Amino acid sequence: MEKMILIKYGELTTKKSNRNFFIKILCQNIKNTLKEYPIEVEMDRVRMYIKSEEIYFNKIIEKLKCVFGLHGIVVCYKVNTNIEDIQMQVLEILKKNDGNTFKIITKRADKNFEIPSMEFNQLIGSYVLRNTDLKVDVHQPDIPIYIEIRNDGSYLYTNEIKAIGGYPVGIQGKGMLMLSGGIDSPVAGYLALKRGIQIECLYFESPPHTSLEAKNKVLRLAEILDKYAGNIKVHIVPFTKIQESIYKNVPHDYMITIMRRMMYRIALDFAKKRKCKILINGESIGQVASQTLSSISVINQVVDMPVIRPVACLDKLEIISLAKKIGTYETSILPYEDCCTIFVPKHPVIHPELSKCIEYEKLFDFEYLLKECIQNIETITDINMQKYDDLL
Ligand code: ATP
Ligand code: MG
Repeated sequence: MEKMILIKYGELTTKKSNRNFFIKILCQNIKNTLKEYPIEVEMDRVRMYIKSEEIYFNKIIEKLKCVFGLHGIVVCYKVNTNIEDIQMQVLEILKKNDGNTFKIITKRADKNFEIPSMEFNQLIGSYVLRNTDLKVDVHQPDIPIYIEIRNDGSYLYTNEIKAIGGYPVGIQGKGMLMLSGGIDSPVAGYLALKRGIQIECLYFESPPHTSLEAKNKVLRLAEILDKYAGNIKVHIVPFTKIQESIYKNVPHDYMITIMRRMMYRIALDFAKKRKCKILINGESIGQVASQTLSSISVINQVVDMPVIRPVACLDKLEIISLAKKIGTYETSILPYEDCCTIFVPKHPVIHPELSKCIEYEKLFDFEYLLKECIQNIETITDINMQKYDDLL
């Protein structure tokens, strides 16, 4: 008997033409996330088998639960295809699981195996009835036992662990996530990852107006997203001079609008340099003055790249519930100031006009400042090596 972890791909098996590419990326992602463990991966068109030492199984499964593109994870036992071995293994599995009822579900992928599935269910089922106190329940068994008879042996398993779903990260290429320390943008990043978009993160900081803790909080959020993304990079944008110039030169009701147009310009330029196809952010319609449709429209004018806003149409409570699910909420609500919250005017314009933005942007040499700012972006690649424990 050999014990291993079996993975089901789910949704991606339906995309026939791209299947090989999907599986290749998924396999790379799995190997990357499990790089600390001694594993061997085998795969076919619908399954992947991960072999390792049994002591690592629980940890491996925890990691696999964060890999997009997986739909089911099961611990399975491979035995030789003969009735005695299968019967023995079925009893072993039943012993390890609590319940009063069972059901045998046989799938015969190896058509050379002479006993039809239904007949085999009965054969194994009656053996279990003779050797245990369990009863059969064909509708809602406590312990369903799956037996897959394949060419190279029989695979036995019980309850499937539901995996995270989505598409393997990377199959869609890359997007640049504007990652702040708030609740929304980490959730936006997670949802983008779920659709197969690899992300890099861009964080605008304005020291000394924003603190080191605020930056560490963002890095910590990136670290949490890294569980789903793998190899995440965070680019830190030195935004102080631009923000101070806006504060000095621009009428205060337009300060946020202009600030966001500057952020978008920097994000666009840097995203192109990093070969990203889209920008991603955590804007949510109507949440604040800069997120009305008029504001979004005026701000969006400065970019010629699609901007994806995964939480645009979610309520704050829905976003919070997702943030809790993915594990970013507790970090997001830590109280460190963000650069947007420091320069907040009393009455930000709710329906900004494009012509006014253009006029106000002539009041200072922003082109020069943007260039200088982009040149000084600092990149952090070893996100898991940093220590942010002092935060919590
Ligand atoms: P909250 O969850 O409190 O709304 P937020 O991060 O969404 O926080 P907003 O002011 O609503 O803050 O900003 C909208 C979006 O703009 C963010 O979701 C994020 O994508 C981007 N953004 C804001 N501030 C920054 C920043 N300092 N660095 C990078 N991106 C930012
Ligand atoms: Mg927000």
